[in-house]
Amino acid sequence: MKKVVILGAGFAGLHIFYKIRHLIGKKIEVTVVDSRNHSLLKPSLPEVSFEGAPVSHSLIELKHTLENRGAKFVQNEVINIDAPKNELTLKNGEMLGYDYIFLAPGAIKDYDAIKGFKEFGYSVCDELQAQKLWKKVQSFEGGKIITGAAKSSWGTRVDAPKLLAPCEGPIGEIMFMLDFYLTHDKGLQRTKDYTIEVFTPGEIFFEDVGDTPRNALGKIMQERGIKLSNKKVLTEIAKDYVAFEDGSKMACDLAIVIPPYSAPKVLIESGLGNEKGFIPTDKQMRHLDYANIFAAGDATALAQPKLGHVAIIQGAIAAAAVMKELGEDIEIPSYDLEVFCIMNMGGHDATLIASNVLYGGNRDIAFHSPLAKMMKWGFDNYLYYNKGHMPPDFVLDATDRLVKFL
Ligand SMILES: Cc1cc2nc3c(=O)[nH]c(=O)nc-3n(C[C@H](O)[C@H](O)[C@H](O)COP(=O)(O)OP(=O)(O)OC[C@H]3O[C@@H](n4cnc5c(N)ncnc54)[C@H](O)[C@@H]3O)c2cc1C
Repeated sequence: MKKVVILGAGFAGLHIFYKIRHLIGKKIEVTVVDSRNHSLLKPSLPEVSFEGAPVSHSLIELKHTLENRGAKFVQNEVINIDAPKNELTLKNGEMLGYDYIFLAPGAIKDYDAIKGFKEFGYSVCDELQAQKLWKKVQSFEGGKIITGAAKSSWGTRVDAPKLLAPCEGPIGEIMFMLDFYLTHDKGLQRTKDYTIEVFTPGEIFFEDVGDTPRNALGKIMQERGIKLSNKKVLTEIAKDYVAFEDGSKMACDLAIVIPPYSAPKVLIESGLGNEKGFIPTDKQMRHLDYANIFAAGDATALAQPKLGHVAIIQGAIAAAAVMKELGEDIEIPSYDLEVFCIMNMGGHDATLIASNVLYGGNRDIAFHSPLAKMMKWGFDNYLYYNKGHMPPDFVLDATDRLVKFL
């Protein structure tokens, strides 16, 4: 029986687990290690921040989910991976050996890298930040709202798109949801006395999609009077302004940002990352230096932008690659990425974005409709009630065919 370890039970780690679990007890034993006891469904966090949704609806309990399905779950932080010895070290001092390891520890949201964030900044990127923001917006009586993503850097060892922001979809949700809920009586104080201004470190906003979604969203921003500033690299959040690398400042009463992403410490300290710590892999998600190490999700150098959808595609490839090596008759999916997300815009409104132009394709769709909101609602709830299990392939294929008609 081969020993398989999955480090991280987020989008990528859970998807890998569901893909390989039918081999448990036949060919493999699986241990999943995560420092958290619950997996966090980050795409639901804007609803926590702007609709007051309970955070519990974004959490998947891990121990029973995994152990009822045949894996061993270890709740602990991995502090070292000794790749030549096939061994990892947990924070409690225990060691764990493996024949294969899937690395899926995600990325660190580096709030501390922004001067003043702790005192004056807000975000939606984890459950603590999302709940803190919900408290803040409930008492917001008007003023200048600034939102945008900080700049991240990713390293150069693999050939991936060079994006400056990790993912700007949540910025779209922040600006559109706030704009909706501040003018509708849904829990926030109703006010018209506010402005929303967005910044991006990129030459263009939404640099990971093509002109169709960018223009569609730009048009809605214009209609709603949301101003955009490009090429703004955030350096500081103060009490009443945010500051940028070019020396400019914007007056601000509420700053909501996506912080820079950095690689998990364990990857940097174990020497498994590129110069920035992100994991270099080939397109079957195998580590460039270690044949029995596979990776998927935000922690990989190839994942650009940092999206759950990308984590899922990579996870399926990594799982298939290992299963093939274990003698399974399986085809490894080709490395075809796409930016796919549904942007919640408040109320019944949402925009579905499906674009692969970043990877040389020609699909570039923006579908703005209450139907998109229903699809998001259906997908998020499926994931939650099925313990992080993705909808079956035929549903995903049907969605894909539907999107082709949009
Ligand atoms: C607000 C927000 C909204 C988003 N909306 C969307 C969306 O609509 N659609 C979309 O596709 N994507 C969306 N994303 C992006 C998506 O959430 C991420 O790309 C996705 O979670 C990445 O999955 P992952 O498995 O790589 O990492 P994660 O989901 O971050 O999981 C990593 C896991 O590894 C564990 N871990 C890390 N280090 C260690 C360690 N040393 N020891 C033990 N365990 C460890 C962590 O505890 C965590 O459980 C959104 C992100 C944010 C912040």
